[in-house]
Amino acid sequence: MLKVEIDPGSGFCGGVIRAITRAESYLSGEDRLYSLGDIVHNEAELFRLQQKGLVTAASLEEVPQGGTVLIRAHGEPPATYQEAISRKITLIDCSCPVVLRLQKSIREAYARLHSEGLHGQVIIFGRVGHAEVLGLVGQVGGDALVVENAKMLEDMIDSLDFSQPMEIFSQTTKSPTEYEEICNLLFFRGARLVVHNTICAQVASRHEKLAAFASSHDVILFVSGKSSSNGKVLSDLCRSANSRTHLVGSAAELDPSWFREGESVGVCGATSTPKWLLEQVADAVSALK
Ligand code: SF4
Repeated sequence: MLKVEIDPGSGFCGGVIRAITRAESYLSGEDRLYSLGDIVHNEAELFRLQQKGLVTAASLEEVPQGGTVLIRAHGEPPATYQEAISRKITLIDCSCPVVLRLQKSIREAYARLHSEGLHGQVIIFGRVGHAEVLGLVGQVGGDALVVENAKMLEDMIDSLDFSQPMEIFSQTTKSPTEYEEICNLLFFRGARLVVHNTICAQVASRHEKLAAFASSHDVILFVSGKSSSNGKVLSDLCRSANSRTHLVGSAAELDPSWFREGESVGVCGATSTPKWLLEQVADAVSALK
């Protein structure tokens, strides 16, 4: 028999819960709602919502005039709101309040960095092309430097103007340890840098607890959609605490050879992994001989 435990801290974050609740509430009275990009980076949950009438649109061009579009928790750049007005599209804005605060801070930093003849630099630690990052860069008309990791920063560091002030922000779901490493690289080069602590508190606290959870089990099953940025960060964290960590999208991907009789198995996931999917995976492990 295997002992199975679901991580009590795993499951959707507040921002994702809010967006999905509003989508389901809208679809209880309407046939169709468009989501600008996937509402959540989890294929199984997307499929469940598609059955209720949620349609993912890659851009507003795919939405018929008069349609209703949900803005997901990642937020959007100002251009999206302007385009919606010109296309007569109604928006249900589910941008996470934490992301909206971050967008506002970036606009304010940009104004500071370009006041009184300054030509300072806004830096964003985040995944290039990620929806949240595109929304952040859009707040300053694209005039922000996106740094995905320490290697990328090292490659471009000689092109930065260290005579000018800099302010750095992190995408909400990035690793606190990596963010510190990036900031230290800039400080080491003598940057006049203001660091904004913008990693989501729910994500940061999950990092600490998840490492402890991963090391307290023989095997870890990390359940996540393959496109989840947070899933990649957190599954890597689990793997560094427990080398027997397996990333799975659903119970169908379990391999019985991963487990030995009597072992303890921890099941956990990203901020985009639904609780019901964690339960399905845990039940499938319990059913293994
Ligand atoms: S991770 Fe945090 S900031 Fe991002 S959507 Fe969830 S609650 Fe909001």
